Amino acid sequence: MHFYLATSFIFPRSLRLRLFTLCFLATHLPLLGYIGWGLATARIALPEFLALTLATVVGTGLALIGIGALLNPIHALAETLDQREETGTGLPDVGDVIHTLYAGVHRAASATRAHLDDLHVAAHEDPLTGIGNRRGFHAQIDALPAELRRGTVALIDLDHFKQVNDQLGHDEGDRVLQAFAGRLAAQVRRADLVARWGGEEFVIFFQNVIEDEASWSLARIARQMRIDPIGHLDGRPISFSAGLSHWSDGQLEDALAAADGALYQAKEAGRDRVCRATLEAAVACS
Ligand code: GH3
Ligand code: MG
Ligand code: MG
Repeated sequence: MHFYLATSFIFPRSLRLRLFTLCFLATHLPLLGYIGWGLATARIALPEFLALTLATVVGTGLALIGIGALLNPIHALAETLDQREETGTGLPDVGDVIHTLYAGVHRAASATRAHLDDLHVAAHEDPLTGIGNRRGFHAQIDALPAELRRGTVALIDLDHFKQVNDQLGHDEGDRVLQAFAGRLAAQVRRADLVARWGGEEFVIFFQNVIEDEASWSLARIARQMRIDPIGHLDGRPISFSAGLSHWSDGQLEDALAAADGALYQAKEAGRDRVCRATLEAAVACS
């Protein structure tokens, strides 16, 4: 390591050129020694000098070609590490230190990539329902191009869900959450975003959709909850309440806050209904 660092001033950005330089100096030492000795003793002979020079040039050339070829796997490895896609080691099992290094770095890089992918999924996905979580929702919204960042946001909350847990058990509560998430995800278009906002609350972004259409979509889901219930509470199908708000210009947070206000009104008005925030900060329910 000391030698590596001490020689770093020679071509600091290229190991290949540093090796070439050292190799060039080393292979020329015999020739330089001969010239020095010949000049000191005045016994230099032209045929010997030419033969030694030729041997030095050939030796240098072979050394440079050999070093260049031996360095190729390291350069290929560096390129592989730069790439996002896993490409396999692509190197036969030679068994030398380069192969060990190559295989080890590949293993570490693959493990790190897999770990990062897992972490990314864990950070953006709700483990219970398999749909996005709040962070995932924001990440998907942030990834949208400007012209698609408009539509209607809905905050949806299961009614009396605590009683599902209390009366039917936590496992049944979990199953209801999963069934509800699946139903929401199945009922919206591919362009719409569904996520678990937290607890028994969900969010939908209806892309490029006015509130009327979003309201109809939710009414359709509510109807399906009555026809084909995901569960019962006190003999009645489990229902939900929702608050809607339009979002086009401005902060998404403001639209979400307005939707939350409308959701609160839906709960206050007796649950199992959809309310929308209007421009006048009033709320209309259906
Ligand atoms: P409201 O109609 O006013 O919304 O009443 P609610 O009972 O649905 O609302 P509340 O906020 O009182 O209770 C929500 C419950 O959701 C409480 C909490 O234990 C439960 N909950 C939150 N997350 C989970 C979960 O992951 N699994 C289960 N089974 N229950 C959860
Ligand atoms: Mg609730
Ligand atoms: Mg709630």
